[in-house]
Amino acid sequence: MTHIAFSFCFGTIFGSFLNAVIYRLPNGIGLFLPRSFCPSCKKKILWYENIPLLSFFLLKGRCSNCKVSIPKSYPMVEILSGLVAIILWPKVFSFQKILDFSFYFSIYCVFLSHFLIDIKHKILPNALNFYLAIIFFTFSLVFKSWNHWLYGMLIGALFPLSVTWLFYLAKKKEGLGMGDIKLFGILGIHLGPMGIIHNIFLSCLTGSIFGFMLILLKKLKKESEMPFGPFIILVATFQIFFPDFFNKFLKIF
Ligand SMILES: [Zn+2]
Repeated sequence: MTHIAFSFCFGTIFGSFLNAVIYRLPNGIGLFLPRSFCPSCKKKILWYENIPLLSFFLLKGRCSNCKVSIPKSYPMVEILSGLVAIILWPKVFSFQKILDFSFYFSIYCVFLSHFLIDIKHKILPNALNFYLAIIFFTFSLVFKSWNHWLYGMLIGALFPLSVTWLFYLAKKKEGLGMGDIKLFGILGIHLGPMGIIHNIFLSCLTGSIFGFMLILLKKLKKESEMPFGPFIILVATFQIFFPDFFNKFLKIF
């Protein structure tokens, strides 16, 4: 029981930090300074108003000064991070298990931030891509052969880049953003050549189906852009966190 409570608390603290990342990175505000403030009235948030999850309920979801609502996404990100930490938390502690936990929890943190930032701002921040690249590269240098990460990275970056370039020559419009192409290349380091081909294929497929449905439902105009990062992340989440399920799915496909 204690390990569930401890891992949940650990997760919510990181969730609280992720909320800061998700708000601050795309708005060009430093991650640690200035200290937390209300985006509406700029009042500094005191330490006891900044306790993950607890403060949201104590403040009844409003700023203590101007009473503007705190977005529901804040406690949701904290709860989700707590649950993910419970699932990933090692049952027995060893150096290897702690390393495993840090690896997978870091991937979760980047994926969730990318997902939410791309939906709202249509960007995949370089800082997050860079951090993910370092984690994958370090892991691959130790555990994978060079042809796995090198070919994975090259296919992941060059294949979408050339398709985007051809699309641009034909239509004078950018298909994929540079952030998407960088993310494909970085994921290729970890997923390897076949894994990244699966990801490119399935994310393009799900992205097109979803976009087509939105156009049919008149929620999206034909000319307007739809963030594509969430589809890459969604497929990669299955590939990295549910590999058995993903492989079974591939066989049916
Ligand atoms: Zn306020």
